[in-house]
Amino acid sequence: TSLFDSVPQAPRDPILGLNEQFNTDPRPHKVNLGVGVYYDAQGRMPLLPVVAQVEQDLADQSAARGYLPIDGIHNYNLGAQQLLLGSTSSPLTEQRAVTVQSLGGTGALKLGADFLQSLCPNATVAISNPSWENHRALFEKAGFTVVEYPYYDANTRGLDFEAMCSFLEQLPDQSIVVLHACCHNPTGIDPTAEQWQVLAELLVAKQHIPFMDIAYQGFGTGLAEDAAAVRLLAEQGIPMLVSSSFSKSFALYGERVGALTVITTDAAQSPRVLSQLKRLARTNYSNPPTHGAKIVSTVFGQPERFQQWTQELQHMRERIQSMRQQLVVKLKEHGVVQNMDFILQQKGMFSYSGLSQEQVHTLRDEDAIYILDTGRICVAALNAHNIDTVAAAIARVLR
Ligand code: PMP
Repeated sequence: TSLFDSVPQAPRDPILGLNEQFNTDPRPHKVNLGVGVYYDAQGRMPLLPVVAQVEQDLADQSAARGYLPIDGIHNYNLGAQQLLLGSTSSPLTEQRAVTVQSLGGTGALKLGADFLQSLCPNATVAISNPSWENHRALFEKAGFTVVEYPYYDANTRGLDFEAMCSFLEQLPDQSIVVLHACCHNPTGIDPTAEQWQVLAELLVAKQHIPFMDIAYQGFGTGLAEDAAAVRLLAEQGIPMLVSSSFSKSFALYGERVGALTVITTDAAQSPRVLSQLKRLARTNYSNPPTHGAKIVSTVFGQPERFQQWTQELQHMRERIQSMRQQLVVKLKEHGVVQNMDFILQQKGMFSYSGLSQEQVHTLRDEDAIYILDTGRICVAALNAHNIDTVAAAIARVLR
């Protein structure tokens, strides 16, 4: 027998599996609402004009493609920090924020998980129920025991905040709590400002370590508004990690643009933390890729480009909001009697529709409408051409 004879088949990624099924579906009117990306009004993944212009400038410069420093482009990291924390937050003014460029938000989560594993290998990691489908596997692969805290309440189609808090109260002190900073994936439901305040006090009292995941900054209410929870927790004077992703906000999915920020409690810790993060990066992938981070740091560094980017991001955000409004109106028009206004309250690209697995399968089989088994709909994949068909079909299965 050879070494690889005993290798078991790993489970398929559920989302990628659904995409493959969609791609081979011959029905011309098919609609894919299972994706996790932003599509424009024409149903295409956009290349943001600001990105195209910066790429042109970079191409004109014909720069050589040397290695980046292990922690990436300095101005990229500074820009990521400012976008996250604002320019006057105490971690920034007190040199308590350490940021390294990462391979997307996923790379930031893994780098942070590996760093925490070296410090507190026996800590429990708590993720929301439900959460982004990669959270559990990522923290388990890093060596942690992962538990789920209550989050979504199917009855109210909202947050089960009491159950969430009492679960976090009962966790051992100094557990690692993974929190979606805004635009919760997959439910679209975020804590309110008052609830974040309660959570902040709870985390401090329990000495829990927040690991905030912010992959949709700018898709909820606005760039600063969507960072409010990060900024609140960053002011608590507790150790904390944040993974940022610019995959969606710059539509640079394949360029792997992310950043890990560690908030220390004393400036003296910061260089040592940075040295360990660099060591982890060095032994994993040596140094991060240049192209995407060059684009993002150029945008961060030029006020007109930055302004243009915030407008293009605002356009994406407003298009999603208008799709939410139209979906609710059209569901009513097609005879849905249930109150669907929860769709308007949800933030970001996704909506937990409340559709059952059976209803989801009917939509797939009879209407060529692809939705995740959990009922998660990508609102950013709706457009003027498909929204009426989608609303009519959903209305039919809800009857
Ligand atoms: N966290 C969440 C909540 C996400 O939804 C995603 C992307 N789907 C990521 C992290 C990873 O982002 P990236 O593609 O930049 O690795």
